[in-house]
Amino acid sequence: MPVLVVGSVALDSVETPFGKADNVIGGSGTFFSASASLLAPVQLVGVVGEDYPMDQLEPLKKRGVDMAGLEQVSGESFRWRGRYRHDLNSAETLETRLGVFSHFSPKIPPQFKNAPFVFLANIDPRLQLDVLNQVERPKLVACDTMNFWIESRRPDIIALIKHVDLITLNDGEARQLTDCSNLVKAAKWIMKHGPKIVIIKKGEHGAFMFKENSIFFAPAYPLEDVFDPTGAGDSFAGGFMGYLAQTGDLSDENLRRAVVVGSALGSFAVEKFSVQRLLEITRGDVVNRVEEFRRLVAFERELGTVS
Ligand code: AMP
Repeated sequence: MPVLVVGSVALDSVETPFGKADNVIGGSGTFFSASASLLAPVQLVGVVGEDYPMDQLEPLKKRGVDMAGLEQVSGESFRWRGRYRHDLNSAETLETRLGVFSHFSPKIPPQFKNAPFVFLANIDPRLQLDVLNQVERPKLVACDTMNFWIESRRPDIIALIKHVDLITLNDGEARQLTDCSNLVKAAKWIMKHGPKIVIIKKGEHGAFMFKENSIFFAPAYPLEDVFDPTGAGDSFAGGFMGYLAQTGDLSDENLRRAVVVGSALGSFAVEKFSVQRLLEITRGDVVNRVEEFRRLVAFERELGTVS
């Protein structure tokens, strides 16, 4: 089953302790598509300016990303400039230029309107809501956001999450959105405002999935070399939603597996700049890494040695 995604299609300039990349392809919609397309067909909705290197999106098309909803208009593409210092868990935004996104009004192609899985990737919450108003009763709607939008458009985010089933955000964003420093309380606060499922990512410390009566935790894969954390969150979401779309199963056990698949995809994304690594890997690589996750957390239940 296909996944529809609306998100930023960007040119990123990133500095990490290991190097620099200028004007490389990025954006929440792009990372999500590169990741989810390993598992399911993807329908991308977004906008780029006339300066965008469209040829660099070709590998995504080849992998099954339908770009009928990606408009190219006159003006500058969305640009993000960020830096990571030694704490690779948090990006410092140096510059955000919305460019063509500031006047964008998404038009969902008719063939995308009945997508069963919809992901409203990080972008202006007004655009996320606009997309949601144009689709026909999906099986699952999920969204993401970030500090930039929580600071500037908090009321719009609160209005949006009333209509979504699931939200993914990182720990800092969860605290900022809810004003709760405790993450369990933050998740409960969010659940009161709409989503039945809340996924809080903690970078190299893994991810929690909160539901009304259960909490699930998956670790992050302990990589020896993290090169560029940009896009880890969107790639997590792509793996998570892509797996749900591939299986069509929303049971609790399958949602838990989806969190692990998401963590596996997030771990690949950070191994190289931009979407480079996501484009190199195959489904087989994903399966192998999921198996490594299983080994990472496997232990015997027998408590014989604990008195
Ligand atoms: P993450 O998965 O959180 O690391 O997301 C990284 C991507 O988010 C980068 O490729 C950026 O282009 C994109 N991005 C940064 N700021 C914004 C924003 N305010 N709205 C939408 N996308 C953004």
